[in-house]
Amino acid sequence: PARESLLLEAKDVTRRFGGLIANNKMNLSLHAGEILALIGPNGAGKSTMFNQLSAVDTPTEGEIIFRGKSLKGKNARQVAEMGMSRTFQHVKMLPTMSVLENVALGAHMRGQKGVISASLHLEREEEQRLLKEAKLQIERVGLGEYVFEEAGNLALGQQRLLEIARALCSDPCALLLDEPAAGLRFLEKQALAELLVKLRGEGLAILLVEHDMDFVMNLANRIVVMEFGELIAEGLPHEIQTNPAVLEAYLGG
Ligand code: ADP
Ligand code: MG
Repeated sequence: PARESLLLEAKDVTRRFGGLIANNKMNLSLHAGEILALIGPNGAGKSTMFNQLSAVDTPTEGEIIFRGKSLKGKNARQVAEMGMSRTFQHVKMLPTMSVLENVALGAHMRGQKGVISASLHLEREEEQRLLKEAKLQIERVGLGEYVFEEAGNLALGQQRLLEIARALCSDPCALLLDEPAAGLRFLEKQALAELLVKLRGEGLAILLVEHDMDFVMNLANRIVVMEFGELIAEGLPHEIQTNPAVLEAYLGG
């Protein structure tokens, strides 16, 4: 990819938890218009890396650079304003509220304390703007027919799409997804993959953490493999698929 399309970088990132080294001198980069997959066995350090990339956590050493600026000291709201958006591994939604309300409220709450304070502080005009944006993003992810459905009635795959719609409301250029395919059925995974390909086509940079190597093989442009906190391989899907160190990590784990 062109040099100017570089959006997000980890530079020699090390994260320690007491004596445990969860990430050791990790370097990676994410560009506009690509899907980068971060894979590795359980405990490899993927979520730790992901949390630092999305400014939820801070490196012990090294730094994260987003659009040329260090993320050090930035909170979730500031990072969202800079154009980065993430989902969380465990879907958080209000099951008795509509899909529309969930997406609108979720978008408003980004970086804030809670649902109650969020709903109390909504101005009428702001509420209308949010609902309009939420509806657009719900349609964008293919949930248009479920706008007024109770979120709790959605299948797991649809709830994942709801989470992505929520993340898209802040109009990000980089979208970070933690195990978006976990627990999904085959057809749900396919629908998710199709959406991600569409978003990539619109120029978004997508980083996804996955435990499941099969899901990313047909989807990712590039794959970074971690084991024991370190980067053990990086390359095109077909290169990764036949890399001896990667096979060893997955089979030997
Ligand atoms: P993965 O997402 O690849 O399964 P994690 O990043 O969750 O791996 O974990 C990597 C290692 O760091 C594991 O040994 C885990 O127990 C440890 N770890 C992760 N988060 C913390 C934390 N907040 N405190 C202590 N240890 C942690
Ligand atoms: Mg994890």
